[in-house]
Amino acid sequence: MNNDLSLLGEFGIIDLFRSHARRANPWVTVGIGDDCAVMDMDGQRSLLVTTDMLLEDVHFRRSWARPRQLGWKSAAVNISDIAAMGGTPSGAFLGIGIPTDMKMDDLTGFRRGLDDCLRRYGVDLLGGDTVASTNGLAVSITLIGTAPSQDVVRRSGAMPGQRVFVAGTLGASAAGLFLLEGNECPGGLDADSRQELIRAHLEPRPLVDLGRTLAERHLATAMIDLSDGLLSDLGHLCDESRVGAVIKATALPICEPTRILADSLGLDPLEWAISGGEDYGLVFCTAPEDEAPVTAVGRDLDIPISAIGWTTGEESVIRLSVNHSMSAVSRKGWDHFAKTGRGEPDEPVP
Ligand SMILES: [Mg+2]
Repeated sequence: MNNDLSLLGEFGIIDLFRSHARRANPWVTVGIGDDCAVMDMDGQRSLLVTTDMLLEDVHFRRSWARPRQLGWKSAAVNISDIAAMGGTPSGAFLGIGIPTDMKMDDLTGFRRGLDDCLRRYGVDLLGGDTVASTNGLAVSITLIGTAPSQDVVRRSGAMPGQRVFVAGTLGASAAGLFLLEGNECPGGLDADSRQELIRAHLEPRPLVDLGRTLAERHLATAMIDLSDGLLSDLGHLCDESRVGAVIKATALPICEPTRILADSLGLDPLEWAISGGEDYGLVFCTAPEDEAPVTAVGRDLDIPISAIGWTTGEESVIRLSVNHSMSAVSRKGWDHFAKTGRGEPDEPVP
């Protein structure tokens, strides 16, 4: 028997646990397989719980991220999962493995960044666990939030023939990571653009107000946040909703600095936009009659919202439309166990 975990991949590993997970508590309404677990509290309100881990040299390098930015990001990526369910974040638990060589200033900086993010989103730090680490900084945050039970938006509610929207932009975080890794822009990039890309990677802004507004007004039939990459995350939504999707390359919201950097490298910015990951915007589906109200919500909250395609009845198949030709694409985003990591779109399917 082949014992290689890369065959299973990150999502195969999750399925391994999911398929054996006990589900006997009647008050658990959503378990493994969404951005948060959902537990009914009193028939009216639900508790949302999510957890995420950041590891040194897997998710970040201490050499290119300031401690304050790491603190911010480790809270933000969890808050984003609460946003994806339409919830309001309220409490956090911090599990932290602190390297024995970490300096007091750095720990204080991390604490400050974490605190800035938690305060910005109205979250209280409620507890945690602290250990010494012999192998780099490890941060695991568990975030809890609440939502009226009838407003919780899951990944599984989309139907064929609905509009697919992206809130925020795509690819800036991957472009920022490219710069942080020490690469330069051959054609030159002004300081503000450079900063915009790096901040997109290190200081993501979860779209809590937008998620909550869409949920309250029942404008999103299904929703997920953008952590692994558009194809991968939309793929999860399609799997859970048992739909497919067509996305139009020309409709993808790619910011100008991302385009400038990609063009100057001779790369297609589409690659960062669909597979880059860590943008922490939202992808959601909307019934055709709700498209106008969704656009109005984006305008009111001053958040770019783009209609990027539509759902189909072709279960779990995502097709990318480029220059009027349509190809099925594999949904590779970031998979921690796959040997290839971030993937290329597949060749067109005949
Ligand atoms: Mg998520």
